[in-house]
Amino acid sequence: MKWEDNVRKVVPYVAGEQPKNKNVIKLNTNECPYPPAPGVTGLAQEMDYSDLRLYPDTNATPLVDVLAEYYHVKPAQVFVGVGSDDVLATAFQTFFNSGKPILFPDVTYSFYDVWADLYKIPYKTCPLKEDWHIDPEDYKQPNGGVIFPNPNAPTGLLEDLDTVEEILQANRDVVVIVDEAYIDFGGISSLSLLDKYDNLLIVQTFSKSRSMAGLRIGFCIGNEKMIQYLNDVKFSINSYTMNRTSQVLGVEAVRDDAYFKEITGKIVATRERVKKELTELGFVFPDSKANFIFASHKTVPAKEIFEALRAQNIYVRHWNKPRIDNSLRITIGTDEEMDTMLEFLREYLKER
Ligand code: PMP
Repeated sequence: MKWEDNVRKVVPYVAGEQPKNKNVIKLNTNECPYPPAPGVTGLAQEMDYSDLRLYPDTNATPLVDVLAEYYHVKPAQVFVGVGSDDVLATAFQTFFNSGKPILFPDVTYSFYDVWADLYKIPYKTCPLKEDWHIDPEDYKQPNGGVIFPNPNAPTGLLEDLDTVEEILQANRDVVVIVDEAYIDFGGISSLSLLDKYDNLLIVQTFSKSRSMAGLRIGFCIGNEKMIQYLNDVKFSINSYTMNRTSQVLGVEAVRDDAYFKEITGKIVATRERVKKELTELGFVFPDSKANFIFASHKTVPAKEIFEALRAQNIYVRHWNKPRIDNSLRITIGTDEEMDTMLEFLREYLKER
């Protein structure tokens, strides 16, 4: 078919599986195992859905305002989108237009190279060090922009603010995006660097620490001018990105700070306990500060453990990719879910 010559051909991102079966222990897509804040679920039940006949607020003003207040920035420094994937995709389109390669780690969120290909942005990956940390020296070469998650995914490793700042110092003429999808599980945000660096964009999400992956809410914070440029691109594609329900429930989630701290605290406590138990079972892993652990076993191949867990309806994530094919990314679930997994692994590994 001739028309196929003109198709924009892409190799899409592959999201983790969402099984239909409810009996699965789902530790494969870094969702939160706890429900959203009680205010969110309460409000969802009381909402007046007759308003759904109307378009939503194009600027999601109440949500932007509550985020600005929470993070002590101006509303003009906040941009919201349909999950942080939407925010990140818009940022790629908006800021990475120099024709020079953008830089990101070789082992990282596997959507970055997909957006780069989609928008025809050249890119170069920088190998993580042997200990899985970023080497800031790699980011001191000419480039068209920089992006990395902090903590990184799927390693879970956090870079300290000195490392982030070293990368910013070396890249004053391009936009540096720090993807903080997992920052709320014990990491230190780069927000304090915003006053010093007008080229820093920090992206966060409600999908993990706020337990709202299903509503699709993401946001970023940066210099006012940057946010204006993002809005120009957004309003050139689709003015009504975030639906009414997400806007209303998102505000409620930010208001309930006590619940947010409670669930993130619980996940951190479970993570630290699971680290000890996995070590006893012969697993090794970088010291995660995220809501997952990136573990490989000293003797048993990851693929085999992945399949054995799957046969028990315990889903974790495994990639057939260089450098990471002998590791499993295990999302931190409830204590009970983790105990079921650990109990199975104890027996399974004994027999190996
Ligand atoms: N950044 C990273 C590093 C992620 O792992 C994810 C989750 N897949 C996202 C961004 C996107 O999350 P969401 O679109 O749900 O906000």
